[in-house]
Amino acid sequence: MQFSGYLQTLSKGVVACWSSLGWAVLFGVCVSLMTLNVSANETPQKLQVVVSIPPLKFIAEDVMGEQADVRLISQNGSPHHKVMRPSDIQMLLDADLILWVGQELEQYLVRFVNRSKATSLPLIAHTSEENHRHPDEEHGASDDHAGHSHHGHNNSVDPHLWMSPTAVQEYVAVLRDHLSAMTPAHAHDFKTNSERLMAAIDESRLAWQVQVKPYIGQPYFVYHDAYAYLERELGLDSVAVLTVNPGVKPSAKKLGQLSRQLSGVTQACVFYEPEFQQVKLDRVTTAQLHYQLLDPLGSKQSLPSSDTLQYIEFISRLVGDLTGCLSKL
Ligand SMILES: [Zn+2]
Repeated sequence: MQFSGYLQTLSKGVVACWSSLGWAVLFGVCVSLMTLNVSANETPQKLQVVVSIPPLKFIAEDVMGEQADVRLISQNGSPHHKVMRPSDIQMLLDADLILWVGQELEQYLVRFVNRSKATSLPLIAHTSEENHRHPDEEHGASDDHAGHSHHGHNNSVDPHLWMSPTAVQEYVAVLRDHLSAMTPAHAHDFKTNSERLMAAIDESRLAWQVQVKPYIGQPYFVYHDAYAYLERELGLDSVAVLTVNPGVKPSAKKLGQLSRQLSGVTQACVFYEPEFQQVKLDRVTTAQLHYQLLDPLGSKQSLPSSDTLQYIEFISRLVGDLTGCLSKL
């Protein structure tokens, strides 16, 4: 409430109070009661946190609980090709804290993050080098990566770091420290919540590894190279990546290459993504193909029950969708 507005409300209240009671002794009581009422309404302002993709929202809410307002930038298209709305820009400018993947993936955000007064915590810059994967590492058809840079100007790091439970654990610690410095009154909550999430990741990682173990070596294709961190932690490896640039359908040359990779294969899984049109591969192979949706951004995830951690739910769903299809082979 503005100070002048407060005075106005106060004086109106005083008049009402005075005329109804008319006792000088009670005048003081009225004023104190009204003052108490005003302070009760003045709850401390929550931290305004803006996140660029749903998995960062899951992590933020798991760590912050009720102690922050976490808002997601509208999801027009994939992070690879995003269009900003004026309301998103305003949200970024008004934020206290911005959680994003980093300029390697989200070039469109750089100038707004720079203009905002908010503390910026890019995921890539706040996880250590040894937890990064470099696109020239052997993964599926490694020649897919040659000469391309669909992840922006800096192509030295695979930017899909939210898929790495280990990198996320590191980021959670960084987030906890920043939040505690910003609102020391809630430091204890941030510590408890972050410890809970980190322990749950350790426990779940073992469960996910057990879950995928029977299917290691089964042939499958992913739409774009978003899963390598998770595959590395779980011991899985896709046969091939269908497209290097997620906005562009596989070329005829690429389809020819896929056809050769599928020779001798009787069955395989093809994982497609909600943001992109499904690529039909049946005409390039005689193998029986099972199509399954994978959601690497958790964009279809609804709020789980209050005792479930959202990040755990997100990865569990991916692992469930992966093994669900692989179990049909
Ligand atoms: Zn991607």
